[in-house]
Amino acid sequence: MAAVPTLSYSSVRAYLECPLRWKFLYIDRLPETPRGYFSFGRTVHSVLEELLRPLVLPGRRSMSDRVSQATLDDYPGSSGRATPGRLRSREEMLEFYRANWLGEGYTTPDEERRYRQLGEEILLRFHDTISAAPPTPIAVEAHLEATWDDIPVHGYIDRIDRTPSGGLEIVDYKTSRELSAEDAEGSDQLALYQVLVEKNFRDPVERLTLYHLRSQTPHSVARRARPALSELHERVVSVRDGIRTESYEPTPGRQCARCEFRGMCPEFKEVPAGERERLKELVDRFETLRADERRLEGDLAQAAQELHRAAERLGVHRMPGSRGVAIRRREENWRYPEDRVRGILTEGGQPEMRSPLDTEAIRRLLRDPSFPPEVKRKISELGSRDVRWYWTLEDS
Ligand code: SF4
Repeated sequence: MAAVPTLSYSSVRAYLECPLRWKFLYIDRLPETPRGYFSFGRTVHSVLEELLRPLVLPGRRSMSDRVSQATLDDYPGSSGRATPGRLRSREEMLEFYRANWLGEGYTTPDEERRYRQLGEEILLRFHDTISAAPPTPIAVEAHLEATWDDIPVHGYIDRIDRTPSGGLEIVDYKTSRELSAEDAEGSDQLALYQVLVEKNFRDPVERLTLYHLRSQTPHSVARRARPALSELHERVVSVRDGIRTESYEPTPGRQCARCEFRGMCPEFKEVPAGERERLKELVDRFETLRADERRLEGDLAQAAQELHRAAERLGVHRMPGSRGVAIRRREENWRYPEDRVRGILTEGGQPEMRSPLDTEAIRRLLRDPSFPPEVKRKISELGSRDVRWYWTLEDS
């Protein structure tokens, strides 16, 4: 059995999408291709972390971890640089944003410029929003670990807020173009974060929120109920078991379009140049034979149909050819509604005949001369049959 690393939401999702891609990323440690929108998301997240860290108030950590957070400095992610209670100004925020801009992965300078602009707009609107109604975080960018049954899991949670009733709200920021309440309803990410928070903090999770940064819209849902968590747990178990047994089959799908490992994947690996010509001929031949097969199937069905019409018209079942004889055969398939047949048997005083009661058993029963004719008649009336004619060939 292979060792299973601590699983995050991203790694569970990556494995479920394609186990081979998961192996490339998490076992072989191959680097992902840098992409502008990932850099953009990381930059914005780092600014939000910096912006909100001064507002963090201590939360009560779970006693099961033997950790009790009493002051801001006890918070494991605290930098100690920020002054508690004071929100950074818009200018300070933008200064930090510009100094920490990640420029990796943008395809053109123009694309990077547009993202920079978008980031400023998002951050300024976010600043306005939280200045008007400051959140009450007990943690930002919290790295939490836990053992879910026997599976080690972890995650970085953007923000955990104290709710007015003393519970907790998990907030995850999204820089994506679109986001809806349904996304929050079905988010495995939020569900896993709920598990992590509940195993690390004593206060109950009350709300889960995906925060759409482009529109400054929080999409909030109630905490996940136990059945939904059980379903997610099953998926996590299936990932754990797949990794343990080193099941790394490629699973092609829409994700292949943005997979950087296509060149190494058997699904897309190029045929070596020396083999190409010979295999091309083989593929062409296979394609031709497939087309012939479909054409022959059509011709065969048409010939059988013409023979059938001739046999009906002439009232014959055998048709001689020059090399053999075509013989017309009949096949019947009967169907009976099992529940109603059982009812008739019981009414007719034959309950012992009730099981097993497949079509063959019912046909045997109808042929049985010792069976009451009235019961047989009622059962017969329930039957429906499909008749199929077909042709066989025999030597003359
Ligand atoms: S190309 Fe598709 S099937 Fe192959 S590893 Fe990537 S995601 Fe998986």
